[in-house]
Amino acid sequence: MRVVIVGGGFGGLQAAHSLRDAAVEITLVDARNFHLFQPLAYQVATGALDPAEIAAPLRSIFRRQRNVHVLLAEVTEFDLARREVHVTPEAGVASHPELAYDALVVAAGSRYSYFGHDDWRAFAPELKSIEGAIDIRSRIFSAFEAAELETDAAKRRAALTFVVVGAGPTGVEMAGQIAELAHDTLREDFRNVDTRQARVLLVELADRVLTSFAPSLSAKGERALRDLGVTPLLRHTVVDVTGEQVVIEDDAGRREVVPTRTVIWAAGVTASPLAGELARAAGLDTDHAGRVTVEADLTLPGHPEVFAIGDMAQVRDLPLPGLAPVAMQQGRYVARVVRARADGDAAPGPFRYVDKGNLATIGRSKAVAEVKGLRLSGVVAWWTWLVVHLFYLIGFHNRLVVLVRWTFSFFTHGRSARLITRVEPRD
Ligand SMILES: Cc1cc2nc3c(=O)[nH]c(=O)nc-3n(C[C@H](O)[C@H](O)[C@H](O)COP(=O)(O)OP(=O)(O)OC[C@H]3O[C@@H](n4cnc5c(N)ncnc54)[C@H](O)[C@@H]3O)c2cc1C
Repeated sequence: MRVVIVGGGFGGLQAAHSLRDAAVEITLVDARNFHLFQPLAYQVATGALDPAEIAAPLRSIFRRQRNVHVLLAEVTEFDLARREVHVTPEAGVASHPELAYDALVVAAGSRYSYFGHDDWRAFAPELKSIEGAIDIRSRIFSAFEAAELETDAAKRRAALTFVVVGAGPTGVEMAGQIAELAHDTLREDFRNVDTRQARVLLVELADRVLTSFAPSLSAKGERALRDLGVTPLLRHTVVDVTGEQVVIEDDAGRREVVPTRTVIWAAGVTASPLAGELARAAGLDTDHAGRVTVEADLTLPGHPEVFAIGDMAQVRDLPLPGLAPVAMQQGRYVARVVRARADGDAAPGPFRYVDKGNLATIGRSKAVAEVKGLRLSGVVAWWTWLVVHLFYLIGFHNRLVVLVRWTFSFFTHGRSARLITRVEPRD
């Protein structure tokens, strides 16, 4: 049985892994040659970790799994009638333009949505890719360098103003880390500028930060952010972004122009364009977030041989958050269905999500967590966060290196990956 898996992210990786001793031949197609551990991307963006420490080459992950063939290629189209996937190889070799399948698993993830203002993307990068994280890192550290050289007080203030858009876990993590850089790590590294004068604004449309958590934990998160020197601007929206300023509007329609050169986008997400491709090929619609709707067994309506999982899919009548555990559990579930079909066994029941909790870190020894009904905050939540992220990070080497780095940073308050480099961001 030929299985094509599109995407080596959280969902695709689990699907391929869980089919390791099944009688199937798997082609795992990804436009990147590595799996990216997105939950730690903000640590690359703030100089705490190096890019390679949160990424693992797909070929090395599947070195010993002989039924997996990794293909570095971008998927462009689906021909559901002919059961073929159209790809453009990334290595510039015109082989494999079509891949035939008996079962297709599409797990192409999501990207940030600029709510119809794609022109803001150039000024307000997002953290979805390694390149995005490196770009943000360069912008943050360049801003401190500019402040060091700037003699004009207003321009120096602009250089030391950081605006993070969206107070979900990623926005909160980014804002907290930038504040820690300014107030702690970089404090003694500059001669002309006092980095503690930095302003970190966290803009959020809702009336609280971390809305996916209970209100009491949101309140604790907000307090922790303020303690770090972050200013949450709740019930505010960004209405314009340029290379020199952002315009922020409150819920009464009052506007403020904030001069800044560093804006980070961590607001709403939208599904991968492949969700739209899949929907179009099947004659279906996508939802408001660009996701394709799948049945309770994660198959495309009318196409039991096609599965869509993770951030790019929504399960009919089962609203789920866009989180890594959802994609992982769906990947494992799809593998069970495919294996049952390959073996001629009865299909498993519908997909069920087991909610193992929700975690967000804010800064050193500051985090919030909801685990099996327990609401944790402070040091306990922070340790929980550290252990969980180390556990799920792919690759023993990465785990070890990250553990050593975190331990070193904890005692020295340092961050050694503070490089300013130039790369072109890509999705
Ligand atoms: C900054 C950030 C922080 C996050 N933090 C957390 C967290 O702390 N906890 C948590 O649970 N979740 C977190 N998430 C969400 C989590 O990362 C996603 O829910 C999860 O990655 C979804 O898995 P997926 O398999 O659907 O997609 P992904 O993991 O995004 O994988 C998609 C894969 O598809 C590939 N791909 C896309 N398009 C194509 C194409 N056309 N052709 C070939 N390959 C393609 C991509 O290269 C990628 O490898 C975070 C997300 C971000 C962006």
